[in-house]
Amino acid sequence: MTLQLQCRCGTVKGQLEPARAYTRATCYCKDCRSFGRFLAVPGVLDAAGGTDIVAIAPAAVRFTDGVERIECMSLSPNGLLRWYASCCRTPLGNTPREGKLPYVGMVTACFADSAQVVDAALGPPGRTVINTPSATAPVKSTPLAFVTGGLGILAGIIGARLRRERSSPFFDANGRPLREPHVISREERAALERGPV
Ligand SMILES: [Zn+2]
Ligand SMILES: [Zn+2]
Repeated sequence: MTLQLQCRCGTVKGQLEPARAYTRATCYCKDCRSFGRFLAVPGVLDAAGGTDIVAIAPAAVRFTDGVERIECMSLSPNGLLRWYASCCRTPLGNTPREGKLPYVGMVTACFADSAQVVDAALGPPGRTVINTPSATAPVKSTPLAFVTGGLGILAGIIGARLRRERSSPFFDANGRPLREPHVISREERAALERGPV
């Protein structure tokens, strides 16, 4: 089966194979929250400032429409690449800076199917939570889910490497990012960490 991806305005569209997902987790780290604040659109951050993310093999994700509107930012010169649809500032996914590591954390805000369909394919959100100390409201940690989720990511990455998968919707065949990342300034980053104005 496939899940549909779509930005808020419908320009960027794609698909994802949930069978290739490593794990689903809500991340409460400051950087994911800063990315959500940078985009400044509703439906990305939960009540405690967390981002619902599906870690998956990049080869299991593809974009079919609006690829030219996909942009890339980073919170620092060595930070993750954070991909979004520039037409309407919908987050798409987070990747390492180079394409060799078969990992993308897809932000479920760009999932177009109903919550029931998504949850049936990937399990419910919030079963695994990470970086809870930096949440903006108390969140119960899930230590066991954290470990199994981490092992799922590791196993998935190893599997994808063994299959010598090269394809990623965010990198070219040489492992170069599709777009030059826009690295925001330290001042901009500090402002995002302080919170929305
Ligand atoms: Zn859009
Ligand atoms: Zn995070």
